[in-house]
Amino acid sequence: MSSSVFHHVGLRRLILLLAVMSALITLANSFYATYRVQRELLITNTLESNRVYASKLAAETQTFFENAQQQLAYSATVLAEDFNDTVNLVQEADRLRLQTHSFNSVLVADAKGVVRATSPDTFQLIGQKLTTDGALAALKARVPLISQPYISAAENLIVLISSPIFDRSARYLGFVGGSIYLKKNSILNTLLGQHYYRDGSYIYVTDSQRRMLYHKDNGRIGQTETNNLVVPHQGPTNGSQQMVNYVGEKMLAGFAIVPATGWEVVALRPTLETLKPLEGLMLNVLRHTLPLALLTILCVWLLARLIAQPLWLLARSANKMDANDISEDIDKIPSWYFEATQLKQAMLIGINLLQQKIGKLRFEAQTDPMTGLYNRRGLDTILKYWHTLHRDFAIIALDIDHFKRVNDTFGHDTGDAVIKFIAEQLRTGSRDSDILCRSGGEEFLVLLPETSQEIAEQIAERLRTSTAEMASPAGHITISLGVSLWRADKNGDFTIDQALKLADKALYRAKQEGRNRVVLAPGV
Ligand code: GH3
Ligand code: MG
Ligand code: MG
Repeated sequence: MSSSVFHHVGLRRLILLLAVMSALITLANSFYATYRVQRELLITNTLESNRVYASKLAAETQTFFENAQQQLAYSATVLAEDFNDTVNLVQEADRLRLQTHSFNSVLVADAKGVVRATSPDTFQLIGQKLTTDGALAALKARVPLISQPYISAAENLIVLISSPIFDRSARYLGFVGGSIYLKKNSILNTLLGQHYYRDGSYIYVTDSQRRMLYHKDNGRIGQTETNNLVVPHQGPTNGSQQMVNYVGEKMLAGFAIVPATGWEVVALRPTLETLKPLEGLMLNVLRHTLPLALLTILCVWLLARLIAQPLWLLARSANKMDANDISEDIDKIPSWYFEATQLKQAMLIGINLLQQKIGKLRFEAQTDPMTGLYNRRGLDTILKYWHTLHRDFAIIALDIDHFKRVNDTFGHDTGDAVIKFIAEQLRTGSRDSDILCRSGGEEFLVLLPETSQEIAEQIAERLRTSTAEMASPAGHITISLGVSLWRADKNGDFTIDQALKLADKALYRAKQEGRNRVVLAPGV
């Protein structure tokens, strides 16, 4: 047999091990699947909500620019009325700035780019000629414009929204422009900044050249975004994707384009933060699946017991196949399924055959082959058995008279035939319960259970006379017999061996007294 580590492990434990393992694997599998699905769901939902949020902000910003351009267009018509009246220009600039709150500053410039009015007049720019990018673009284009961000004359990073001023005869007079300061409190901050600062979420806005216009980290405003581009230059106007932000954090980003400016609004939420609820969720899943898993294991344990029990009992019985009532024990084992039933049947058949074989061997070992009577060993077995039963019995010791002569006269084979003849005499002259034994060459013992002295003597006498009367293969022969008794209540000081010896002694006396007679042992 191979030496396996499972040699001493019972079937029940193996089944249990198998079941627990499969339960755990199933549990882990469903746990992992749930985790993956929930994770996907959280990520998809966050990406989508960020996209929607970015789109909403982009739409609001678009609306703001449309309003701002309308306001400037209206102011342009008002300013055209009396373009030479500086007081009128300043008043209109103030009204525009203060009434609408759309702009950080407002300025009016003439067709040559000379400043005619500002609000507020902090930097006293009136009379100076504008050279900034936004102003030059507005002067050149002579159409409503939203500039790229640039550094203004007053050293602010600004966006200039401008509207041209024409008089009634469509002569270009100049432009009116509203500035939004990107690094200071502006309408953009109000629009974008109030929202959305939970859980590490934030938004940023870049222009079409990817310059940062709005960011929670003020220092990044004005810088060009190079690493973490979200939107390709051409492509959809909104969408979402996973990305790594400027500090190396994994983010879930939604983006949208403001059509008026080509600006890109990006709403981000850290992936880690998004997945945080997952821990609690998985704990919940565990809490809900664990009781059923434990119940399953319990059921499997019970079932494993039930399946393993017949085999375990059969295996235990296989260890003591030589026990007396093993067949009955095995028969009682409840084998409720095919393999156990087959095994049980096979064991019962095996034991039956084995016991038959053992019985035959025992019989052969305890029998004299020539006569078929018990030999000395068989006799001993029976004597031991009767001793344990405290059974009383009488003993007849028997020896053929002058047997040497038979051998000498007729030969050894006839001698054997005479021995067989005597055995036959014993058989016919005894009861079924009597034990007949060939104790030596031509010597015999007869044990008569529960028999009185008188009966034993009678039987001995009958044996003697019937033998003497019958013709043996060697003609008429005689036998001598000694009779003794064994009584269980004489136990202790009188052994069975002594009783046998007494019978022998009586036999010896029969020989001495002339043979062909029965002698009762003295003291019986
Ligand atoms: P006694 O009357 O005193 O018994 O005289 P006996 O000649 O019978 O003397 P004893 O009992 O001592 O002789 C036993 C003889 O039986 C000796 C032996 O040769 C013979 N014998 C023993 N076993 C067998 C056997 O199996 N077959 C044959 N043919 N003879 C046997
Ligand atoms: Mg003899
Ligand atoms: Mg003899």
